[in-house]
Amino acid sequence: MGTFAAVTGMNDLLPGPEGDRVRALLAAFRDAAARYGFGEVRTPLLERAELFERGVGAATDIVDKELFTLADRGGRALALRPEGTAPAARAAIEHGLVGRDRVLRWCYAGPMYRAERPAKGRFREFHQVGAEVYGDPSPAVDAEGIEMAVSFLRGLGLARFAVRVNSLGGPETRAAYGRALFEHFNARRGDLSEEGRARLDRNVLRLLDAKDPRDRAAAEGAPSILAALAPVDARHFEAVQGYLAALGVPFTIDPTLVRGLDYYSRTVFEITDQSGALGAQGALCGGGRYDGLFGALGHPEPVPAFGFAAGVERLLMAAPSDPAPVAFRAAVVAAAGPAEGAVRDAALRLAQRLRAASVRTHLDTRFGSLRSQMRRASDEGAEVVLLLGATELAAGTVTLKRMATGEQQTVTLDLAVESVVTDARWRTRGGA
Ligand code: AMP
Repeated sequence: MGTFAAVTGMNDLLPGPEGDRVRALLAAFRDAAARYGFGEVRTPLLERAELFERGVGAATDIVDKELFTLADRGGRALALRPEGTAPAARAAIEHGLVGRDRVLRWCYAGPMYRAERPAKGRFREFHQVGAEVYGDPSPAVDAEGIEMAVSFLRGLGLARFAVRVNSLGGPETRAAYGRALFEHFNARRGDLSEEGRARLDRNVLRLLDAKDPRDRAAAEGAPSILAALAPVDARHFEAVQGYLAALGVPFTIDPTLVRGLDYYSRTVFEITDQSGALGAQGALCGGGRYDGLFGALGHPEPVPAFGFAAGVERLLMAAPSDPAPVAFRAAVVAAAGPAEGAVRDAALRLAQRLRAASVRTHLDTRFGSLRSQMRRASDEGAEVVLLLGATELAAGTVTLKRMATGEQQTVTLDLAVESVVTDARWRTRGGA
């Protein structure tokens, strides 16, 4: 009988340094989000497929080609979420939290699913961290959101990335621009790739970020959306740029930046890695304003909204790796001997008390020879070993051995935990 492998494009995260890096990244994101006033929302991995058809757009790649769908027992179409914005907006509407001038700041972190062709930095299950602001139409929201993303990336040690911004205007601008763009590309239909022709008919704006050289060549001389912006949209975009400059965020304007999803209006932005660590999949983070989303999801009042999402795996690939030592602060070693059972009980209880005091504690529950337990303690990176044998137990003591220097000290069992927690000498390698 064969064994199993993970589903294509989906990865295991095993215990060890990589897991520690993921946890550190999530902690950094939650910390950044909290500083900017965002509260965390958690929504289900499964939603009605229609939520994404309406909220992301049926003509987008992630819905048209990449949605993982399944039917529930009643035959209704469900989908594994490909992104976090539509589910969060669904939750805000469902719980009656938006409207009446209320402003919400929500963030999220979790897995997303897209049936894309797996490649370096492109997976079918990947993780995003994201943030959303509902109810505030101000360009200051857009600029603060972009600045928050940038400061989060910098906090991860990323230095070489580029921020591009663009404005897609409101629905009228977009529709009028779409028609002008259609004319431009339709006159060159014969020069387009097959994929380009499909985009022309389904979602013409997406021809601007096509990768095929034939489509790129056909995009030469295409009208710029910036020239088509309605005056209110142009003012909004100017204000965003002014705030970004005031916040010291370096950016460039890229009129071809359209982003894949339907729901954007006005500001869109993308942050791409410039270190080369990601190859072709350079997009680290993207987002923008989506004032039309709530209407598309059936909310009676319009709700202005802005948000962004960043890919956890890509951030980890681009960030400098400093493998945090997965050191156990303490290891309890039980020396076998005549009082074996009692010594083991005492060792288990001591480890329990250390853990209750937040000390990372390793106990080799195979209780091998003293030598093998000591070797294991050292392999696990323990800073201090608490040695318990029949003699110590009889005397109500434990021997503390500091691994870095070999120095030993005998303390009473009662004081052992306190000694490890408070004695700075045992903290040679940082916290628990
Ligand atoms: P998007 O929702 O497509 O704008 O994606 C936001 C971010 O998620 C991107 O900038 C990437 O960092 C990340 N991302 C998107 N798709 C994938 C994928 N298939 N695998 C890994 N990361 C992804």
